[in-house]
Amino acid sequence: MYRHEVDEKSKTLRLWVRRKRGNQRIVCSGCGQRCHEIHEVVQREVRDLPCLEYRTTVFVELYRVKCPDCGPKIEKVDQVPGKAPFSKRFEEAVGLACESAAARRVAWQFRLAESTVRAIDLRYLERWNRERRKPALKQMGVDELFLGKRVTFVTVVSNLEHGEPVWFGQDRKQETLDEFFRTQLSRGQRSRIESVCVDMWTAFSNSVREWAPQSVIVYDKFHVMQHANKAVDEVRRAEFFRRGGWRRAVVKGKRWLLLSRWVNLSENKQQQLNKLFAINRRIMKAYLLKESLDGLWMQPNEEKAREYLWNWIGQLRWQRLPAFQKLAHLLVDHIEGLLNYYKAKVRFGVVEAINGNLRLLLSRGRGYKNLRYLLLKAQRMAATKTEFVAMRKAA
Ligand SMILES: [Zn+2]
Repeated sequence: MYRHEVDEKSKTLRLWVRRKRGNQRIVCSGCGQRCHEIHEVVQREVRDLPCLEYRTTVFVELYRVKCPDCGPKIEKVDQVPGKAPFSKRFEEAVGLACESAAARRVAWQFRLAESTVRAIDLRYLERWNRERRKPALKQMGVDELFLGKRVTFVTVVSNLEHGEPVWFGQDRKQETLDEFFRTQLSRGQRSRIESVCVDMWTAFSNSVREWAPQSVIVYDKFHVMQHANKAVDEVRRAEFFRRGGWRRAVVKGKRWLLLSRWVNLSENKQQQLNKLFAINRRIMKAYLLKESLDGLWMQPNEEKAREYLWNWIGQLRWQRLPAFQKLAHLLVDHIEGLLNYYKAKVRFGVVEAINGNLRLLLSRGRGYKNLRYLLLKAQRMAATKTEFVAMRKAA
């Protein structure tokens, strides 16, 4: 440091630094090779971490080198990694703050524009991502995420073992997933995928069969249960319209209760459901069928599970529940993929946990127009603390 200025009134500190004479190892920022010829000396102004309560700006002397390969180029300095007017440690502090607070708050804290905070955070995450070891993809999850009216759907590929999203694709077609296999994985990486957890929708499973034929396709329990919930709701609505008077009033407003798992309800809520069941046997039957479908994934082996499913379907006879007849057909059509769970026990809760985290980020951050930013943010979240959320959801 060869000069400094302190402004007590505006609480700013300005420092001028240059390297020591003996420190002459100069590297090209373009290719990373050592250069000896200096083209010119330039001064860069970067914001650094504050010193006490003083906002600190550092004026640093950098060399522009004459690189034999790149021509005139600025030298590479670790403390000032990019063209942005911030030091690396300042960016690290902003990025770290962004891990636990919304960009708007961090902007206020550091007195920066919100867009600047996002840009810094993105660079922080890119640096982290470049340096980390990426886990191999053995258990793969595919899900879709609704982004909003404009972009609508995004296909989310995730690593179920590590609980992190791996890739986002625009849209949710077979071609979308094809693009992932083609552009993101080598032939060897594709061949090492052991299992893939997808919903019972043909687009994704077709793509998996084509690109990773050795993998076991397992249908996601969560999506199956969503279908079951939809069936319960259809029964509820049909009964609601069929009934009149006070009975109708009992059915009314019970939608949420009927879609909840019995074990998750308080005693009071269970009583409310029991009251409903007492006057409507059909809704009770639908609810019990939904509840017992869960047992399909709790059998000791594949054979028992197959038996369980056929018994479950057997209970539909004489029930006049068309919504469940439809569901039964869907399950029979996809029976192999359902029972594949016993060949590859994927962690079902992880897909939903990842999806939940993405929704959380979206609701917190508003402007994730940049999908790359959303992906990195979610990956970082997974690497630091999401494991906890994933486990809790799976349990
Ligand atoms: Zn170079």
